[in-house]
Order: sequence, then structure tokens, then C-alpha cells
Amino acid sequence: MKKLCFFDAKPYDKIYFDPFAKEYNYEILYCDSKLNERSVVFAQGCDAVVAFVNDRVNGAVVNALSEMGISVVALRCAGYNNVDFKEAYGKVHIVRVPAYSPYAVAEFTMGMFLALNRKLYRAYNRIREYNFSLIGLLGMDFHGKTMGVVGTGKIGQVFIDICLGFGMKVLAYDPYPKERDGVRYVTFEELCRHSDMISLHCPLTRESYHLVDEKAIRTMKDGVMLVNTSRGALIDSTALIEGLKEGKIGAAGLDVYEEEGDYFYEDYSGAVMPDDELARIISMPNVLLTSHQAFLTREALKNIAETTMENLRQYFDGEALPNEICYRCAKRGSCKREHKERCF
Ligand code: NAD
Repeated sequence: MKKLCFFDAKPYDKIYFDPFAKEYNYEILYCDSKLNERSVVFAQGCDAVVAFVNDRVNGAVVNALSEMGISVVALRCAGYNNVDFKEAYGKVHIVRVPAYSPYAVAEFTMGMFLALNRKLYRAYNRIREYNFSLIGLLGMDFHGKTMGVVGTGKIGQVFIDICLGFGMKVLAYDPYPKERDGVRYVTFEELCRHSDMISLHCPLTRESYHLVDEKAIRTMKDGVMLVNTSRGALIDSTALIEGLKEGKIGAAGLDVYEEEGDYFYEDYSGAVMPDDELARIISMPNVLLTSHQAFLTREALKNIAETTMENLRQYFDGEALPNEICYRCAKRGSCKREHKERCF
């Protein structure tokens, strides 16, 4: 029986992974801790590690795993910006879940725009105090407005479908455009200049780090609504705060935050928030911040569990790894996998 060390485990993970573990004959050691250079010791004696978005698969972790004889990390997510691929190459295979439900994230994203626009979260709080006033709750019609979509992959495409269903105009920016009716591809600068709302759906890479910085924000329309359900570091938080303070950004929906790793998924109620920028962002009435939850649907969790287990079965059975990713794959086309069926 293979033993898996499962980091950053939550009760909802167990519900979806346990039935598959039985089916695949795996024993799962669930650890509350996030994976990092200190917690990696929990994996001693295991055959594989299962990691999530805020687990760190950095050089120290890769080398510690390698010394323990563990040569596979199964990411139970699509994004992989938390992996040091150069260090992992040749030592630890990294497999992931490239798609589990683009609907989960795209629907959540539109939910954020709607909640921000009509101030549903404020209305909810008011009504609980029997305050039935509508002052301050004014929104706008989405019909006819322009949505700028940055990154038009699996999630971006579903999100575009939703926007077109609302009767919106769609501008898009992606280095690999997928032309379709109702969508006009433009430069990032033009997208910023002409969009009433902007939604981020591209991965975090060296090129996209702080894509939304002070300059980009200055280019945007006054009062623009900005939603990020992708990765926190796509936005420069300091510039975001300035944009919100000046009123340049009318509202922001953030399911991710660039320094989320220390806080998201944990209960800090009762503690003093040490991150001043996070505290400032949360204090703003026109910000809706959630704890990286856009993926959290029943369908997504089931698909994540199934694909993760299948990825590991393929690894243990010595088969090809269609969901493996290495630094060469990340640079499109330069991976030699097509010859060897594994990245190395
Ligand atoms: P995908 O790979 O299908 O699509 C990503 C798209 O972004 C591609 O079309 C790519 O060409 C484009 N792109 C790459 N670099 C870009 C850049 N610098 N500027 C603009 N576009 C760029 O990925 P996906 O499944 O649609 O997921 C998108 C992102 O959503 C993931 O990378 C992940 O960070 C995030 N995500 C978040 C959650 C959540 O719970 N909040 C869940 C899943 C995924």
C-alpha cells in the first residue's frame, strides 16, 4: 500500500479524497500544516506528497524530499507558481490537475462583480441591524458595459461566455489569442484604457508578476472595477491600495492576495493582523476579499481528488504522466516529454 503525505489538509479535502484512497489502495497521512522547509519532515516514510496552492515546493523542500526517497509531488491544483521547477527537475516529478472546473472559478468571479456592484455584502450587514436604508447601495447595469478579460484560457473562456450572456462587450488580452465572436483582442494597455471592469485569469509567471501596477492603474478608467481570482502577485498591493484610496479604482474583488500564504485558510479571528497592507485592504468598504475559495465547489473537489489519485497511479505504475509539468513545459514547446512520456 502506497502512503501519501497530504499537506494543508482541510475537512472538505478528506470527504473527497478518502473514497478514492480506498479505491486506489492508498494510505493518506493528513497534515494540517502547509508544506515548507520545516514541515517537510512529516513526509518521512511516505511514497508521495500531495500539495496545494500555498504549500511551498522550493529548493530546500525538493532536496529534503529527494533525500527521503520521495520523487513525486502531486499538486491538487492547476497553478504551479509555488514550485521551484529548476530545482525539481531530475529529482522530483511534479504532476498537477490542469482543469477541474473552470465553471467554479468563472461563476465565482461574476459573483464577485455582482456583489461589489450592487453592494450585496453591505446590504446583508445592514439588514441584520434592521437598517433598511438604500443610501450608498447604488449600482449600475452590466448590460452594455465593457469587461476586460486578461488571460483567455479555460477559466477566461467560461467567464467570457457569462459576460456575453449578460449582454456585455468583451475586450481580451492574451499572448495566445483564441479569436471568437463577441470578443476583441487588444493590448493590455488598451484593455486597461477602455474597460469598465477588469478580470484577471492568467497564471502568475515572471512576465505577469505585478501586471497590474501603478502605471496600469493610472491607465484604467476612473472608477474601474477590478477582480482577481487568479494569483495575488498579479497585482501590486501597494499600488492597489493607492488606487482605491484615490478613488481611481471604484471597487476591488480579491480572492487572492500576494502575501496570502501565511493567512489564507487559517482562522486568525482574535489575533492582531500583522500584515498592514492586508488589514488596510480589508478595511475598505468597496473591497470584497475572500480566502482563495473560487475553486470550492463539490464538482471541483471531486475532479481534483480523482485526477490527483490517477496522476499518482500513473506515476507508481511507471506509465506516461500527461499531467506532469517541468520548467521546460512551462516554456511552451521546449519539453522533450513527447519522446520519453515523462519530463525526465
Ligand atoms: P489556462 O492555462 O487554461 O489559461 C491561462 C491563459 O492565460 C492562457 O490562455 C495563457 O496564454 C494566458 N496567459 C499567460 N500569460 C499571460 C499574460 N502574461 N497575460 C495574459 N494572459 C496570459 O489556465 P486556467 O485554468 O484558465 O486558470 C487560470 C489561472 O486561474 C491559473 O493560472 C490559476 O492561477 C488561477 N486559478 C485560481 C483558482 C482559485 O480558486 N482562485 C482556481 C483555479 C485556477
